[in-house]
Amino acid sequence: MRWEGNEESDNVEDRRGMGGGGGFPIGGRSIGLGTVVVAVVAGWIFGINPLTLLGALSGGGSPVVQQQAPSHAPRNDRETAFVRTVLRNTEVVWGEVFREGGAQYRPPTLVLFDNSTPTACGTGQSAMGPFYCPGDSKVYIDLRFYDTLRDRLGAPGEFAQAYVIAHEVGHHVQHLLGITDKVDAMRRRQSEAQANATSVRVELQADCFAGVWAQRSQESKQWLDPSDIAAAMNAAEKIGDDALQRSAGRAVVPDSFTHGSSAQRQRWFMNGYKSGQVKACDTFNASTL
Ligand SMILES: [Zn+2]
Repeated sequence: MRWEGNEESDNVEDRRGMGGGGGFPIGGRSIGLGTVVVAVVAGWIFGINPLTLLGALSGGGSPVVQQQAPSHAPRNDRETAFVRTVLRNTEVVWGEVFREGGAQYRPPTLVLFDNSTPTACGTGQSAMGPFYCPGDSKVYIDLRFYDTLRDRLGAPGEFAQAYVIAHEVGHHVQHLLGITDKVDAMRRRQSEAQANATSVRVELQADCFAGVWAQRSQESKQWLDPSDIAAAMNAAEKIGDDALQRSAGRAVVPDSFTHGSSAQRQRWFMNGYKSGQVKACDTFNASTL
């Protein structure tokens, strides 16, 4: 991905090095669906109970994490510039898409943090992986997740990292379109299995929106080559629920899926990428996912 030298977003809140390490991890009021989902996913990634994991991260039992915090300085390092550049491009692309639809896009803020940070959806934890909180319209990411993605999940490549941001921005787009509120109301009336199935449709739509962004950004920037798309496809495969469950040594249980299988995640990213159209992302009315 040839992203260097492109415009960077100012909608980044850098909370790194602010010492957000204390407190019990799952505090605060209602924790958003996405947060719970990523906590569970983190549990799968690391193969242990997320609570144990979160406790270990916040209870001072993990000196490595504490020591790594200052390593993000200086704040304008290459990785930060990359995140700002991708975020800026999502602003341009979604600005266009919303204008085409006669609406105005309000960009999210992207929060960089380490260890833990307060959010309108409860306390955000690094171990949860990146997430979006509709309550404050912010995307939260600890950039060390990219190390996990590359080293533990086997998904290297800058465009895999861009896809992660684009997926979270996809959740913001869902929020702006009123989909998040509708889905939350729906989930409250559903059984656990039904609610999980609904979550899968939410997540696959965010993947599809990431594909829409990728296609439109490519059209204007020509900054991707086939290996970039392959890196995103590989990431979609590696973070499919079935792949995560298998890599954590568990039996694959489709009813417990909340993000979709590897094949589904790849398919919906491609639906968005091939068409560049939001209307290609109607996962809620799709007969097959
Ligand atoms: Zn998601």
